[in-house]
Amino acid sequence: MRPARLAPLFATVRALKGVGPRIEGLLNKLVGSRAETSHAHVIDLIWHLPVGLIDRARTPSIAEARVGELATLEVKVVEHRPGGGRRGRRAPYRILVEDDTSALELVYFRADAKYLERLLPIGETRIISGKLESYDGLLQMSHPDHVAAVDNAASLPLIEPVYPLTAGISNTTMRKAVTAALTQLPELPEWIDAEVLAKQDWPDFADAIAALHAPQSEADFSPSVPARARLAYDELLANQLALAIIRQRLKKRAGRSLQAKGRLRQAIVDALPYTLTGAQSRALADIDADMEDGNRMLRLLQGDVGSGKTIVALLAMANAVEAGTQSALMAPTELLARQHLATISAMAEAAGLRVAILTGRERGAARTAILDALQSGEIDILIGTHALFQEAIQFRDLGLVIIDEQHRFGVHQRLALQGKGTGAGAELLVMTATPIPRTLLLTSYGDMDVSQLNEKPPGRKPIATRTVPLERLDEVTDGVERAISDGAQVYWVCPLVEESDVLDVAAAEERYASLRARFGDTVGLVHGRLTGKEKDAVMARFASGDLSILVSTTVIEVGVDVPNATIMIIEHAERFGLAQLHQLRGRVGRGAAESSCVLLYKQPLGEVARERLGVMRDTEDGFVIAEEDLRLRGGGEVLGTRQSGLPAFRIATLPEHHELLAAARDAARLTLSRNPSLEGEDGARLRLLLYLFERDDAVRLMRAG
Ligand code: ADP
Ligand code: MG
Repeated sequence: MRPARLAPLFATVRALKGVGPRIEGLLNKLVGSRAETSHAHVIDLIWHLPVGLIDRARTPSIAEARVGELATLEVKVVEHRPGGGRRGRRAPYRILVEDDTSALELVYFRADAKYLERLLPIGETRIISGKLESYDGLLQMSHPDHVAAVDNAASLPLIEPVYPLTAGISNTTMRKAVTAALTQLPELPEWIDAEVLAKQDWPDFADAIAALHAPQSEADFSPSVPARARLAYDELLANQLALAIIRQRLKKRAGRSLQAKGRLRQAIVDALPYTLTGAQSRALADIDADMEDGNRMLRLLQGDVGSGKTIVALLAMANAVEAGTQSALMAPTELLARQHLATISAMAEAAGLRVAILTGRERGAARTAILDALQSGEIDILIGTHALFQEAIQFRDLGLVIIDEQHRFGVHQRLALQGKGTGAGAELLVMTATPIPRTLLLTSYGDMDVSQLNEKPPGRKPIATRTVPLERLDEVTDGVERAISDGAQVYWVCPLVEESDVLDVAAAEERYASLRARFGDTVGLVHGRLTGKEKDAVMARFASGDLSILVSTTVIEVGVDVPNATIMIIEHAERFGLAQLHQLRGRVGRGAAESSCVLLYKQPLGEVARERLGVMRDTEDGFVIAEEDLRLRGGGEVLGTRQSGLPAFRIATLPEHHELLAAARDAARLTLSRNPSLEGEDGARLRLLLYLFERDDAVRLMRAG
C-alpha cells in the first residue's frame, strides 16, 4: 500500500482549491497520464513544469510600451464605458486609462460591471499588466493578466512562470492550480546520501520542486541546474531501483544447469542452406554459457530486422530440448506466432523436434490435445503469443522461455510480475528488433545481459531509399505499375493518423480503393481492425504471390517475411518516427533481388522531419539510426518517447542526464546488495521514492518475495 502521507498527492485535482468540474476536465486531458482512470492527480500538476517565463518588469510609460508585447504600466483610471446591446451580442465593457504620455483602453468581454467598478475605480491609480494591442489605431489591452493597487504592487509577480496550456485554461488559472497542488506536498525524508547531496550541491526534494516552478531566468531551464538535476536523479534512481528489484527477483528464482552436447543443434545447422554469421555464433556461445551455469539466464538478444534472430532462437531451444526440457517462444502477435511456426517447424524437422502452436485461436478439443501433449512432454517447442503468460499452462518441464518482443517493451516487467505463471523458473531470452541506444537500454531493461547481432547475413543488397513529395504520387504509382509487371511485390503503408486507428483504417481503405481502381484484384488490404483470420488470409495471398500490392496500416511492421516483396512505399513518412521507418523498411531487402523504399512526404517539411528522412536515406544501420533518433528527439520530447514505447520520464532527459543515469544505476545496485528487501528506515525512504515516481509494481514485487 502506498504510504498514507503520499495520499494527498494521488488525490484527483478536483480536491484542490479553485479546481471545479470544468477545469478538472481540462486538466484531465492536459496532465492526466493514467490510461486506466484518465484522471489528473495532484502529483501530475506538481510535475507540470513551466516551459518559459514572463518578465513583468515595469514599462516606463504607455508611449514607450510596444504593441504586441507585454506591458506593465502604472495608469490612472479615467472612465468606464459599459458595453450596451442585447445579452449575448453585447459590446465589450471598456475602461479608459492614461498616464502622462498617452492613453489606452482596457477591454473586457462578458464583463461583470460591479466587479470592474471595484477593481478599477475612476480616479484611482492602478498597475496593470498584459499584452498591449492596437485596434483601429487605438491602444488597448484586453483582459489584463494583472491589476493591482499601487501600494499592493508587491503582490504582482515580477517574473511569472509560463506553463504548457490547453484551450480553456489561462496561465493564471494554471498557476493557481499548480500553487494549490504544491501546498499538498508533504514533508518527505531525504533518500539521497548526505555525501552525494553535499558534493553535488543539490537542494532537497521540496525545494527543488519549488525552484523549478519559480524560474528566475532562462538559465533555470537548463538540464544541469541543481534543482532539475536532483529531481532527474530521483526519477532515474526510482527507475533503476525498480529494474534492479525485478532483475533480482528473476535471478533469485532457482536457476538450473541445462547441458547439451549440441547433437540436435548440429542436425539443424547441417540442414541449413547457409552458415551462421560470426555474430550469431557469438550470441549462441553467450546463451550456452548462461544456460549451462547454475544461474538463471536473463539475456537480451538485440538484432536489427533481418539479422537472423530466429535461427539463434531455434538453436538455443534445440539445446534446451536435448537437455531434456521443453521450450516456449512467445510472439507479440498472432500473425508473428504463425510465421514463427512456419519457419521454425521447417528448420526443426531436421532434428526431429516436435513443434506446436497455442494462441487464442486454438479452441475446444484441439486446445485440450495440445495442453495434454505439453504436460506429457510430447511437444518440445511451443510457440504462442504473449497472452500465454496469463495462463497457467502445465509443461512437463519448461527449461527455456524466449520472448520475441519485436520493438515493444515491458515484457520483462510483466513477466516478473506474473509470478508463478508459465516459465517462472526457466531460462529467459528476450529478443528485440529495436536497436536501442545504450543509454536507453539501461532505462528499459536495467542491467540485463546483452548479445548483439550486429552483422547482417551475407548477400544482402542495400535498399535504395528515396524521398519524394506527395505531389509526385502519380509518378510513384507509374513506377509501381512497371515493377509489378516485372513480377515485383509492393508494400504500401498508409499514414499513421494520430490517436485514431479508425482514421488510420479510413486512410488505408481510401488508398486501397484508388489502387484497386487501377490495378484490380492484385491489391490487398490489411489493417488492425480485421480479425486474425482475415489478416492471415490476406497475408497468405501476398506471400503466395497472388497479390502484388499489399496496402496496410502499420500492422505489417511487426515481423512479416515475404522475401519476394522488394518495394516499400510509405505515405506521409514525415509522420513516422525513425525507429518505425526503419522497422518498416526492414520488411524489404530480404531476398536476393534489389529492393527499394520510397518515402512519400507532405511539404513543407519541418526541420526534424527533414533530418529524419535524411538519416533514412543515408544509412541502414539500425544502431546508427537509433542514436540519431535519440539525438533528434531530444530527451525532452515525451511524445516521441511514448510512441517508441520507452519509459517516459517526467524530468530526466537523455542524453543530457546520462551521467546521472549511470550514477543512479550504481546506487541502485549498491543499495540492493546491502539491503535486498529495502528494510529499515533507509529502505522505507527508498520505497517512498518508488511510490512517488509510481513504481508501485516494483514494491509489490518486493513484497511478494
Ligand atoms: P530477424 O528475426 O532477426 O528479423 P530472421 O531470423 O527472420 O531475422 O532472418 C532473416 C532472414 O535471413 C531469413 O530469411 C533467414 O533465413 C536468413 N538468415 C538468417 N541467418 C542467416 C545467415 N547466417 N546467412 C544467410 N541467411 C540467413
Ligand atoms: Mg542457467
